[in-house]
Amino acid sequence: MTRIYLDHAATTPLCPEAREAMAAWLGGEFGNPSSLYAEGRRAKQAIDEARETISEYVGCLFAEVLFTSSGTEAANLAIVGAALGNENPGRRRVLLGAAEHHCVLHTRPLLERLGYHVEFVPVDRVAGIRLDALESMLGPDVLLVSVMHANNELGTLQPIEGVAALAHLYGAIYHCDMVQTMALPDRAPPSGLADLATFSAHKVNGPKGVGAIYLKAGTRVKALSAGGGQEREMRAGTENVAGIVGFAAAVRALWRRDAKAQRGARDRFREQLEAAGFVPTVPDRAQLLPGHAHVRLPGVDAETMLIRLDRAGVSASSGAACSSGSLEPSHVLLACGYSEKEAREGLRFTFGHDSSLGEAEEAAARVIACAAAISASKA
Ligand code: PLP
Repeated sequence: MTRIYLDHAATTPLCPEAREAMAAWLGGEFGNPSSLYAEGRRAKQAIDEARETISEYVGCLFAEVLFTSSGTEAANLAIVGAALGNENPGRRRVLLGAAEHHCVLHTRPLLERLGYHVEFVPVDRVAGIRLDALESMLGPDVLLVSVMHANNELGTLQPIEGVAALAHLYGAIYHCDMVQTMALPDRAPPSGLADLATFSAHKVNGPKGVGAIYLKAGTRVKALSAGGGQEREMRAGTENVAGIVGFAAAVRALWRRDAKAQRGARDRFREQLEAAGFVPTVPDRAQLLPGHAHVRLPGVDAETMLIRLDRAGVSASSGAACSSGSLEPSHVLLACGYSEKEAREGLRFTFGHDSSLGEAEEAAARVIACAAAISASKA
């Protein structure tokens, strides 16, 4: 049985362009980019070329892009680094979207230890940030607002223009987690919108363990790591040259794609599931990333379903955290107002740019068969 991979929001396979670009840096080339001799200079040049690509993608200055080890590290640097770099004692509140990724939400204890008060901006039933609530929570004492570009679990695109306008009205820094939207062909570059933005290579067919932060010139952020002066003294540690080169190659490859096939496969899959009684969490497709199909099957918990699906050759997820081997209720669904039981029912299927209509139909048939087997075992 051929396996069908429908978890591209979790990670994506390495594209040939990235693999090819990385090969030299995993083989013959090994220089330390901080070294002054030829091997080091070549490594530094490779990183500079990659920085050029990412800054072109973002639409920002070359020096405004810094490489990190992950999207998580980039988001931590943005949020905690802004808190450390803040010199205005009147700004002690930080507003985080209630349905953000854990790399944003879990900065809370660190921020509190630094003396900040963290509040969560509520979301609506489909994880869209509530601009009215954000507006009422904002004030001149807010240092930073963090609202992602698209929700990783449900796939909901956020009104980031509105978020940016509101945050800036009150002089707050706006951080946007753009990890899930980097692959969008009609992306909205954060330059001029966000002050800080975070990216991750492995969500766009690049390698794992590489991320980037866009740090708009003039935004006060302090480094979280101490050591060498790499990345303009903002991220100490010898750079992952192969990974950075692969990241840039993956981003260049993105520019040659569109999301038509991905969207078509996702739509076909969703239609088949809806007809079989699955409930789409975000009914309006226009609000969604092109690859996301998030559904619930009322009365069936995601864990049971995912175990069966794995056996049936379909790789999917709930998008929720897994601790001690079992699924937690999704913090995103809880934030949307679902009960604990319902928040354990979310199933996330995410299609990639190369997912086909045939795969979508076959996957839908397997998902429906698994649901039928579960209800038969309950009867
Ligand atoms: N932000 C979002 C929205 C994500 O989906 C993820 C990964 O799942 C991250 C941040 C973290 O990225 P990384 O896996 O590179 O740490």
